[in-house]
Amino acid sequence: MAPNSMLMNEDISDHALSGVASLGRVVTPGEIDVSHGAILYLDDVVVSFDGFRALDALTLSIDAGELRCIIGPNGAGKTTMMDVITGKTRPDHGKVFLGQTIDLTRMNEPEIAHAGIGRKFQKPTVFEQHPVWENLELAMKTDKGWWTSLRARLDRSAQARIEETLGIIGLESEARRAAGELSHGQKQRLEIGMLLMQQPALLLLDEPAAGMTDDETMQLAELLNQLRGTCSMMVVEHDMEFVAALAGETGKVTVMAEGRVLAHGTLDNVKQNESVIESYLGR
Ligand code: ADP
Ligand code: MG
Repeated sequence: MAPNSMLMNEDISDHALSGVASLGRVVTPGEIDVSHGAILYLDDVVVSFDGFRALDALTLSIDAGELRCIIGPNGAGKTTMMDVITGKTRPDHGKVFLGQTIDLTRMNEPEIAHAGIGRKFQKPTVFEQHPVWENLELAMKTDKGWWTSLRARLDRSAQARIEETLGIIGLESEARRAAGELSHGQKQRLEIGMLLMQQPALLLLDEPAAGMTDDETMQLAELLNQLRGTCSMMVVEHDMEFVAALAGETGKVTVMAEGRVLAHGTLDNVKQNESVIESYLGR
């Protein structure tokens, strides 16, 4: 099944010109079933490495359209959780579903990416020799078999989508520069742009602010906030100012420790939670 079957039935150029919303798919009827509200749910997930439980009955769900921050000490299992969601690691036990119907434990990594989950690793992986705009163009064409057949139709809107994405990631004036010449923060934004070109329904970001300057970190928070309504996001991060900028006063924050959920609530809530203070924030 093509991930963008809904788009295929409509005039794609309309989507391309309709603003930020064209870059993602929060709710796509007939494709990812979010009728119960969740874009992703993990239930009782266990991952053991030589008897050590990196994930120990992890249960968690993300609402469609939500930007969820995940915090927790090193070794809590945050990256392992993303490995499970993206098919890199098979759980020993438990359920992992995209929407109500897509069982991610039965799919391999390319299939999961194709189903609409994009993952941003810590280190930016851009094509250094290629201009910024070409990085976006290449991202649009990779692992989309159906793209070729639609090419004639899409060409006229492809340029518009690239330009729109350049605007969102704030790299319009760098479009013709080689990606290798960008700053670390710009490269991270470019990589997010490349993920957006694939129109993910859910974007996973593992410590995206690591190694960034304070300014770059806040620019990234602004970018992710701007993507609300475009795709659902799960952001693992240590930088508490960054988390505060994403979660605001009402956003939900999940605290993981020892392979499970330790606490869940607004940032203020979890900061006041006794076990969170003990195991993570310190007194
Ligand atoms: P976090 O991202 O929260 O820092 P990780 O998911 O990277 O935590 O790691 C959770 C635990 O699982 C750690 O104790 C880590 O050493 C262990 N772990 C992760 N991947 C492997 C692996 N491939 N083999 C053995 N142990 C692993
Ligand atoms: Mg990690």
